Amino acid sequence: MATATATANAARWGSANVLAISPYVGGKPISEVARELGLAPETIVKLASNENPLGMSPLAREALLASLAEDSRYPDNDAWELRQALAAHVGAEPECMVLGEGSSDILDMAARAMLGPGSSCVYSEYGFLVYPLSVQKSGAAHIRVPARDFGHDLKAMAAAVRDDTRLIYVANPNNPTGTLATHAEIASFLDAVPERVAVVLDEAYVEYLTPQMRTDSIALLRRHPNLIVSRTFSKAYGLAGLRTGYMIAHEPVTAAVQATMLPFTVNRLAQAAAIASLAAEAELLERVELTVKERTRVREALTADGWTVPPTEANFVWLRLGERTSAFAAACAEVGIAVRPFGTEGARVSIGDPEANDALLAVAHAFPHRSAR
Ligand code: PMP
Repeated sequence: MATATATANAARWGSANVLAISPYVGGKPISEVARELGLAPETIVKLASNENPLGMSPLAREALLASLAEDSRYPDNDAWELRQALAAHVGAEPECMVLGEGSSDILDMAARAMLGPGSSCVYSEYGFLVYPLSVQKSGAAHIRVPARDFGHDLKAMAAAVRDDTRLIYVANPNNPTGTLATHAEIASFLDAVPERVAVVLDEAYVEYLTPQMRTDSIALLRRHPNLIVSRTFSKAYGLAGLRTGYMIAHEPVTAAVQATMLPFTVNRLAQAAAIASLAAEAELLERVELTVKERTRVREALTADGWTVPPTEANFVWLRLGERTSAFAAACAEVGIAVRPFGTEGARVSIGDPEANDALLAVAHAFPHRSAR
């Protein structure tokens, strides 16, 4: 019964922490964009959520369909088979793996395990939006460190650690700006952080990096018992709709995190598709290559057009638009393209298929004052 009184009363529900939460704003689903614009869903180009335009591997789709045969059964809560496959894939023990409902769940579980009232968490300006959300829910204090060149200022983040700090989030590459810290930078950051502070290294876009560009996070895990590496099947693997992510960490950390898990969060279909995806390595590389090629083309075209586009190592570009952010998002929406605006900072535009990218480039080309910043 949605009366005005009911709505007014609803505002009084929730703990003080919860009432202070700014809810996560994600890219809107295609159906919602289509409804808002009065367009047919099939005409919408969604470049708002860093999804994989090529979808999942055919092998993953096959495994997913086969798993439907047992759809009345709960999934394996321990994700035993998937943890074995992941362990072989990353070169760590299966006991080091914890699965989540997307890596957002992993990030949140880390906060649930480590934070509470009286503690604090360090993260960067322009960090992923789930970080402040999870911190706020936990009742811990936020230490938001100003960015440097749109990326993490790792020295300032290490220096910002207080006696009550229990957790740090670092996204590498970062969302929404696409910036990358090197292995050496991450390694010296970890050396500078006290071992009692857990560090989540959020590698949601790691598959888009060449081996030379990657942080050897598994080697760093051997040296740092406080490190938590977080990864996802949502991006390069194209399984965003199935919701699977994982963490790699030492046993005492995984035990704490697992204690906060709800049962059966990683569903049967997702587990089957994720296992099959790991076996489709050649396809993964091919699809990453296509995205990276398109990303280079998009960034070069925008730069040639007078836009300032920070170097990006993920599957999106960051357009600094300032006050013109919403006007740009509106210009995109007018032709059925959904991008992800961030207040008066800029817009994040995912790399789509060549046709979608061409449509985006046409809007960007026609957008006035494009060389103003
Ligand atoms: N970390 C970063 C940096 C991200 O950009 C995202 C997705 N936008 C996630 C984690 C979470 O993705 P998922 O929950 O789909 O794994």
